[in-house]
Amino acid sequence: MDNSHFFYVLLINLLVILIIILLVNFSTLSKQGTTKLPFHPFHIFITCAILIFLSLTLSIKLDNGFVYDLRYIPFLLGGVYGGKRVLLGLAGALILIRLPLLGPGFIVTVFLTILSCFVILYVAPKLTSKPWTTRVYWFTFFSFCYSILAFLIPSMFYGFHDFTSFFIYSGTLTGSTFFVFYLYEMIRTTYILQLESIKYEKMHVVSQLAASMSHEVRNPLTTVKGFLQLIHESPMEAQTNQDLSKVAVSEIDRATDIINQYLTFAKPHPEVKMELDVSEEITRSTEIVMPLALNHGVMVEVDLLHEHSITGEPNKFQQVLINILKNGIEAMESGGILTITSYEEDRNLFIVIKDAGIGMTEEQVTRLGEPYFSLKGKNGTGLGMMTVFKLVYVMNGTIDVWSKLNEGTTIKLSFPITEQSGMKIE
Ligand code: ADP
Ligand code: MG
Repeated sequence: MDNSHFFYVLLINLLVILIIILLVNFSTLSKQGTTKLPFHPFHIFITCAILIFLSLTLSIKLDNGFVYDLRYIPFLLGGVYGGKRVLLGLAGALILIRLPLLGPGFIVTVFLTILSCFVILYVAPKLTSKPWTTRVYWFTFFSFCYSILAFLIPSMFYGFHDFTSFFIYSGTLTGSTFFVFYLYEMIRTTYILQLESIKYEKMHVVSQLAASMSHEVRNPLTTVKGFLQLIHESPMEAQTNQDLSKVAVSEIDRATDIINQYLTFAKPHPEVKMELDVSEEITRSTEIVMPLALNHGVMVEVDLLHEHSITGEPNKFQQVLINILKNGIEAMESGGILTITSYEEDRNLFIVIKDAGIGMTEEQVTRLGEPYFSLKGKNGTGLGMMTVFKLVYVMNGTIDVWSKLNEGTTIKLSFPITEQSGMKIE
């Protein structure tokens, strides 16, 4: 057996594992969920089982009659991140896939797989709260132990002492495990950070809106207080008093409405996709930013001409609208008109939000959506548009931005219309 050949086979193994893990990760992470990791244990199982199978087809038989490859990596990866059931499933799959080759190595495989299961079941739960680098080191260490046993056992029973192949195998398996786990943890961490920043961004928007919300509560309260005083002063004027209390009640109703809308938005929401009534969502979002608009002396005009609905998560869709509306309002320091229009064209629903604010330069427009890009100093997070881009992308939508310095900004959102949906639900 040529040792360099052995090494190449292991490298090809690594390459296949890496390509598949990267493809699966990026295609799943970029397209799905915005509140939790989108990996379903069953998908982890299937991916890792396929990888184990591919590793085995690419394996190499050394002179000791044993088969070597990197199948331990997908087994470890799936077993660690997929949970108990995936671990046991993969152990079964590994033994089954290895079964047709039989030979003395089969017993060793069964033994090492069962041993690994026990070790992973015992150690993995303890590592979840540890920093990710610690996890990577531990799993690399597992691989290292596995590689030693995978050579030690044959050498004990069959007197096989090829140290060069041992070093190649142990080195490649350990190094590859480190590399694969490191990469996987990096992708996971980046993704979790992105989720966290979207949550953080919403909290920030919610707290900023709360400040202007207090006006919305104080004004009707002042009115109601004045009315009550009037009623108290002249209790005999039944007609006037009736009118006054009617106005007072409607003032309080309006304030309650706005606060309820705001609280519904502020609450964390489960991730449920559904058919969205765009008009209703636009009305809600407009009401939520209304106090802020009044504070800035901004008028909001709404003109909706669409008929169908789109698909998405209501709360996320509101987050998109509120972020854009808020930017528009904040761009108009000395008041102005903010218009929201909607229309349909070629099975797409368009929502256009136009302000007459300070606008942006071309360079600023291209940087829009970049995390932490903000010109608002400590009043901005620079995460608003990043969130908008991410959430719109998840809804299969697109965003176009036109802006001119000192003239204003127009943002056009487009979403595919939900097929087989009826007319707009009024
Ligand atoms: P933030 O609002 O917290 O600063 P965003 O991601 O919402 O973060 O916006 C980033 C930057 O883009 C803003 O600071 C602002 O300079 C610019 N911007 C966004 N929307 C508008 C707009 N409608 N008009 C002018 N500038 C805008
Ligand atoms: Mg913003």
